[in-house]
Amino acid sequence: MTDWHKLESKYFMPTIKRMPITLVRGKGVRVWDDNGKEYLDFTAGWGVNSLGHCHPVVVGAIAEQAKTLIQTSNQFYTIPQLQLAELLMENSCFDKVFFCNSGAEANEGAVKLARRYGKLHLDGAYKVITALNSFHGRTLAMTAATGQRKFHEPYLPIPDGFINVEYNNVGAIKKAASAQTCAVMLEPIQGEGGVNVPNDGYLKAVRAWCDEKGILLILDEVQTGIGRIGTLFGYEQFGIEPDIISLAKGLGGGIPIGAFLAKEKAAVFALGEHGSTFGGNPLACAAGYATLNFVIENDIPSKVKRSGAYLIDQLNKLKAKHDFIVEVRGRGLLVAIQFNSDFTDKVVKSCMERGLLLNPVKPNAIRFMPPLTIVKKDIDAAIGILDKVLAKV
Ligand code: PLP
Repeated sequence: MTDWHKLESKYFMPTIKRMPITLVRGKGVRVWDDNGKEYLDFTAGWGVNSLGHCHPVVVGAIAEQAKTLIQTSNQFYTIPQLQLAELLMENSCFDKVFFCNSGAEANEGAVKLARRYGKLHLDGAYKVITALNSFHGRTLAMTAATGQRKFHEPYLPIPDGFINVEYNNVGAIKKAASAQTCAVMLEPIQGEGGVNVPNDGYLKAVRAWCDEKGILLILDEVQTGIGRIGTLFGYEQFGIEPDIISLAKGLGGGIPIGAFLAKEKAAVFALGEHGSTFGGNPLACAAGYATLNFVIENDIPSKVKRSGAYLIDQLNKLKAKHDFIVEVRGRGLLVAIQFNSDFTDKVVKSCMERGLLLNPVKPNAIRFMPPLTIVKKDIDAAIGILDKVLAKV
């Protein structure tokens, strides 16, 4: 049998510590490794497989599109991207879209759009205020946007134009702003930062201040978008409408796709000012359309609200039982538990051995982001495994 792990260490740049299993198949919330061992997958491809692994609606759309037309470039009109654009616009507060291939790319585009807006309407303002502990992607500019020093250090000097300030603190944004500020960019809930939910009123206050100053509010909804926190878009829960949002992850149901959506006033790109070879390609857009359509038609966000509340409830029961769990936090199916010490690796490894895959988001915190279609029985099974593992910590 091929030793896949040996092959990886021989050929790959070692940028990530993988878990020692090789996954070969998935269905719904379950995956199987190359030894046939079954796992409950509460990582969902890092919040990507919204409808679970290999959902028939997504598989069908990809198969059909693959037989019809895979890629053309944006030199031509193609139908899946137009259908997906229409569905996105009809179900959001936005007017215009640009399709790309990933979350980082979507954020890059959103920031370019804000800089263009700054050039046209704000006297050349170009700086974007982002939050400490945020995560916006791995391109050089998004590394600078990401408010975590550890991502900057290997690449110093990082690109100019980003100021990282304390999250959940509107005063910090006001203090950092200047005549050069064109936008504020925030995650409505910080995902990679450990699932940090801001206080009620934070985003509203930021929105009001951006309006007062005439600068743009960008929400990075790469992780919170497409039903993940219990509404189709995260911004709906905070009583605001941003000027721009970025999407990726859950949008394609597993196929790489990204997008940024803007209100008419912010959609200032002109001919030739942005572009992409693969962005909006028919295959990815067909998967996106099938996924989004299923999420909307089956009111998946309401189901996420209920299953997320149940998951949080069950985790709180574990917290009452295991006193080293100090916090359960999150919304919908973007949830984390925090320990009073760095137990994550140990817990995640033991859960994996018992057939549950979890995401080690921080040395002392674990993130839960199962498919949006998860049912109570599978949440119970996961909680059962976790409970047994925690009993041994
Ligand atoms: N923005 C947020 C909020 C994310 O969580 C991520 C990835 O985890 C990204 C951007 C980057 O997305 P991608 O890895 O698709 O470039």
